[in-house]
Amino acid sequence: MPEYAQALRKIFGTALDASVDGVVITDNKLPDNPIIYCNQAFCDITGYSMDEIIGHNCRFLQANDRNQEVRRTIADAIKEGKACQVDIRNYKKDGSLFFNELSISPVYDEDGNITHFIGIQNDITRRKEAEHSLKLERENLEKRVNERTKELQEHEAFLKGIVETIRESLIVLNPDLKIALVNKHFEKFFKINANELIDQKLTDVLEGSWNIPELVNLLENVLPEHNPFEDFEVVHDFPYIGTRRLILNASQITVGGAYQNWILLAMEDITERYVIEKKKDDFIAIASHEMKTPITVVKGNLQLLERMLEKGDMEGYKPRLRQSMDSMENLNRLISNLLDTSILTSGSTNKTSEVIKVIDIIDTPLAQVGEVYKSHDFVLYGDTDLEILGNKDQLSQVITNLLINAAKYSKDSKQVVMHVGRVGNFAKISVTDTGIGIAKENHKRVFDRFYRVSGNDNNYFGAGIGLYISQQIVADHGGTIWVESEIGEGSVFSITLPLSK
Ligand code: ADP
Repeated sequence: MPEYAQALRKIFGTALDASVDGVVITDNKLPDNPIIYCNQAFCDITGYSMDEIIGHNCRFLQANDRNQEVRRTIADAIKEGKACQVDIRNYKKDGSLFFNELSISPVYDEDGNITHFIGIQNDITRRKEAEHSLKLERENLEKRVNERTKELQEHEAFLKGIVETIRESLIVLNPDLKIALVNKHFEKFFKINANELIDQKLTDVLEGSWNIPELVNLLENVLPEHNPFEDFEVVHDFPYIGTRRLILNASQITVGGAYQNWILLAMEDITERYVIEKKKDDFIAIASHEMKTPITVVKGNLQLLERMLEKGDMEGYKPRLRQSMDSMENLNRLISNLLDTSILTSGSTNKTSEVIKVIDIIDTPLAQVGEVYKSHDFVLYGDTDLEILGNKDQLSQVITNLLINAAKYSKDSKQVVMHVGRVGNFAKISVTDTGIGIAKENHKRVFDRFYRVSGNDNNYFGAGIGLYISQQIVADHGGTIWVESEIGEGSVFSITLPLSK
């Protein structure tokens, strides 16, 4: 062998021994392809000494684990004289398993015959274990993500269910105050389609009507501070629905006790409730004030009468008694009007109708009111025999209310005129006075419950319910009631009632 070839062999030998990869060479020309060389790394990996390795076929490394699919790959490669690379389970001398990343390459002679195989191997147990645990970890993570997604989807469906069924307007907002969800009630209330709202900033929708700085400020604090707010009252003019009074509550949505990045904004419309409450308050104030007046008059008169009786002074007795009786009558009317209001508002009057002449609903009120307001002349003319279908007591109450008002609001004049006539299929009854009159802008409002023209309140006894009740009764009978009037010129209150035939 030439000198340089020998030197080269030595260099290769040293290089192979220094390698961290295990190297074996088998001799294909000998029976059963035995190992004729292995390096130190191969011994280190397998735990066998060189003496125990040389001369054996490589299969001893698989011990009894012979059914591995990759063994076929190796056998086929050897048979076909091809290179191959496999990961194979091998066993060390102490029986412990290691994963071997094995590359096999054939060596050919000049005639094209395979003389040797070179195997290079690597213990990849750690890598395999790492890969395996990574795979397990990934599967586990995937499972957890799937479970969590399912849980969230269920929560979302659950939330959506609640949001849809609640009869209050609800919006779900993202952290940047963009609308993520609105419920059906919101769409119906604000008369707007959800498509026009989703993904839009709350402050941009509905012509910017939600751009209320104080509200925006509160909303911006809900998520970062976990800071809900309650009972924030807004009175605002909204497009399509006009002025509304709303109570707003907002909180961060939590799912399963964990905060989510959503704000739930709930709004309750209290516009009507507010008006009713206000009216109720007004009513209580008016009613208690108005009840006090007649009671004070009667009380004063009784004290006076007692003193008169002691002195045997019978002179001033009669007018005092008269005044007291009038006051009691006022009180009586006020109370019965109040009772009627509550019956009317509860919806069932349950009164029977009969065919009556117009005079039947006029004569008693005329006599009674004439008795109280002796200062006035009550004049009646027209066709009072017209027949209508209705409830006598209720319609008499309407006439009484109109006559009392006509006299009450015309202190300085004398006459109240009542006219009855036929207009088409209706009987029309008008009560005319020449009193203080009513400004045009109040012509409709005087029929509202508890409404009294301001300025009159302190000078005239009343609670603002007589005309309201009258309107309800007339409407119940299929008729109408209205007023024509000018300030200082007097008023004409008219009603129509359908004729019986
Ligand atoms: P009340 O007279 O008890 O206040 P009503 O419902 O009968 O209640 O009337 C409502 C309001 O309409 C009165 O407060 C008064 O301001 C006005 N009004 C009613 N009738 C007349 C009238 N004939 N002339 C002037 N104002 C009237």
